[in-house]
Amino acid sequence: MSAAQVSVDRGRCIGAGMCALTAPEVFDQDEDDGRVLLLQTEPTAAHRAAARMAAGVCPSGAITLAEPESDGS
Ligand code: SF4
Repeated sequence: MSAAQVSVDRGRCIGAGMCALTAPEVFDQDEDDGRVLLLQTEPTAAHRAAARMAAGVCPSGAITLAEPESDGS
């Protein structure tokens, strides 16, 4: 089974915390600078929808979600 791959750009992150609120299993915030910390680079199917939603609500576009192409058929 293929997994979605999450990556974050801490340089773009503005510490809004939307990701950690939306998908707390996948994202956390650094205690010191408030920027995103990635807890899971390959979220399980159960957490994938939340991770996708977090990427959508992130105001700085710091979250990238690479989803494998489905084989279709
Ligand atoms: S939502 Fe975006 S800007 Fe806010 S903490 Fe998460 S990655 Fe950073």
